[in-house]
Amino acid sequence: MNRPLDRRAVLRSAGLFGLFGLVGGGSVLAACASEPAGERVRVDGDVDRALLDAIDAEAQTAARSVIDFWGPGAVWRGGAQARVRVFTDQAGFVAAGGDPDESAVTATTTQDGIVLVAPQLARAASGARVFVLTHELTHVRLGVRSAAQHWVAEGAAELTALDASGRTLTTYAPTLVARVKSAQVPGGPPDDGELSATASDLRSAYQRACAYSRFLLARSGAAHYRAWVEAALAGATSPDFSGTFGGSPQSLSAAFRQWLTGQVDAGK
Ligand SMILES: [Zn+2]
Repeated sequence: MNRPLDRRAVLRSAGLFGLFGLVGGGSVLAACASEPAGERVRVDGDVDRALLDAIDAEAQTAARSVIDFWGPGAVWRGGAQARVRVFTDQAGFVAAGGDPDESAVTATTTQDGIVLVAPQLARAASGARVFVLTHELTHVRLGVRSAAQHWVAEGAAELTALDASGRTLTTYAPTLVARVKSAQVPGGPPDDGELSATASDLRSAYQRACAYSRFLLARSGAAHYRAWVEAALAGATSPDFSGTFGGSPQSLSAAFRQWLTGQVDAGK
């Protein structure tokens, strides 16, 4: 069995269910014809045809968003496909390598880069499924083995999904916004403990990882941000953080607080 590396889609998804509604109605995307000739993702699962077709279309949309942001990379270069498996029974999800924390986990990406969709996500609204699939496929694109602190991969995955969703940071991150408005403005990204599966405020930690990643992108521009993330995940020391973003994480604390407060004040 593959040991799941990503147990955190959960928390973010828990927040998303509030935004998109827990139970999916008819899928908007199901009406879009899938593209058999150019599909980026192979989706399978022991679920009914209509649901599988809907999730298939959503997965292709998610993959396009990831490729738009990061380029095709090794996963999709040459027309290869990523894999998504959909489960309607929790036992099957866990047996395949999904995280057993039913209350929180909605998707797991295995070490082999296969995205496992838990029953509760399969039943969720289309928008929530697209968001989580975009997040997970970003992990697949960037590689599930990361040498960096967790916030680098989680922030990149959240940022990719958020950009694709068209939502603003402040509607996506209500918990973080509430903290900022109560003068508890964080000065940096969450540490690994705050992003661990047992952390008490995971949703907020995901939101902070995403916000910090967007802050870095705004400082450096997308190309430099992407190059730094890929290097950091691979364990490379170049390009370095300070050279890319204009200061060490410590020295950027005040700038991050100011930027985040500005985003919240402007409702961005
Ligand atoms: Zn993740």
